Amino acid sequence: MSEQRSPRFRSVLDEYVAYRPGKVARSPEGRSYKLSSNESPYGPLPSVREVIADAGGLVNRYPDNGCTALIQAIATRFGVPEAHIAVGCGSVGVTQMLLESIGEPGVEVVYAWRSFEAYPTLADLSGVTSVRVPLTDETHDLAKMADAVSDRTRLVFVCNPNNPTGTVVHRRELEAFFDRVPEDCLIVLDEAYTEYVRDPEVPNGLDLYADRPNLAILRTFSKAYGLAGLRVGFMVAPEPIAAQVRKTYLPFTVSSVAQAAAIASLQAESELLDRVESTVKERGRVYDALVAQGWTVPPAEANFVWLRLGEDTMAFSAACDAAGVSVRPFAGEGARVSIGSPEENDAFLAVAEAYRAARE
Ligand code: PMP
Repeated sequence: MSEQRSPRFRSVLDEYVAYRPGKVARSPEGRSYKLSSNESPYGPLPSVREVIADAGGLVNRYPDNGCTALIQAIATRFGVPEAHIAVGCGSVGVTQMLLESIGEPGVEVVYAWRSFEAYPTLADLSGVTSVRVPLTDETHDLAKMADAVSDRTRLVFVCNPNNPTGTVVHRRELEAFFDRVPEDCLIVLDEAYTEYVRDPEVPNGLDLYADRPNLAILRTFSKAYGLAGLRVGFMVAPEPIAAQVRKTYLPFTVSSVAQAAAIASLQAESELLDRVESTVKERGRVYDALVAQGWTVPPAEANFVWLRLGEDTMAFSAACDAAGVSVRPFAGEGARVSIGSPEENDAFLAVAEAYRAARE
């Protein structure tokens, strides 16, 4: 008898841990508040829902592989040339395209840690080596990140605001950092939460990239535009970068429904930005309430807050689960809690208050 053989896979998968999304808890009474994935708490606008329904009538056909109308709409809205835009299946899809376009054995990618979890998972998958630079006080340590760039580094991520801490880096620090990164290394500024930023010192990446041949800006329709379930994100970068990254687009990745909904969301932007304003107000209310309860919370510039909990993280997360409030715990570090509707936020604040009271 010949020895049993099994199909062979890439060795990187042996140790690989796939991306784990936020979960959904339910209280014994059946309440469920999902504050674990930084989504918009609002359902789609009627105008967007109508477009989604109409687009549904055409799903026997493949989508426009070039996303032409969507790219035109993004170009018009943001005042950038169409040739500077690449779209993908959410901004994680674009992140994967970026890594596919630079990934080779021996190549390094630098990013802060902790930051967005997709960076290590997608870096591992594309076969590049991650170089993680610890945050200082929950903020990017840009000087150390610049020190970590070597001639093996082809890409650096800066997440602004940072997920999961919600902290930001300012224009002056960013520009000093950009000046230190060699031009043959891509800088990817992930601005998934840019619409929620109110700190005036934080630049809009789209104002910076034109002067930098190696700067790419990542944006998403999943947060402020409320289309997380449809998976659309985009990159704006100088044409040579966009042209290379577009080559890695998996055919027909962005569905026709998603393309239509993203265009409709741009058309309905002012209503969507009013909703963002309400979330920003709620963020202020949640932040102030947490501070009044005695928590130390870093400045929150995205649609979530970060609670530094250390060893208490999993106990806190379990207390939230029991009340039907799902948060995103990072064992030994802290919990990220999305800003939801006022009712959801009140439910979270009640758990946070009871937790502190029980500890004192
Ligand atoms: N970047 C950051 C920093 C994020 O937090 C997220 C979503 N959690 C994304 C990108 C990805 O968003 P999407 O793929 O839904 O566009």
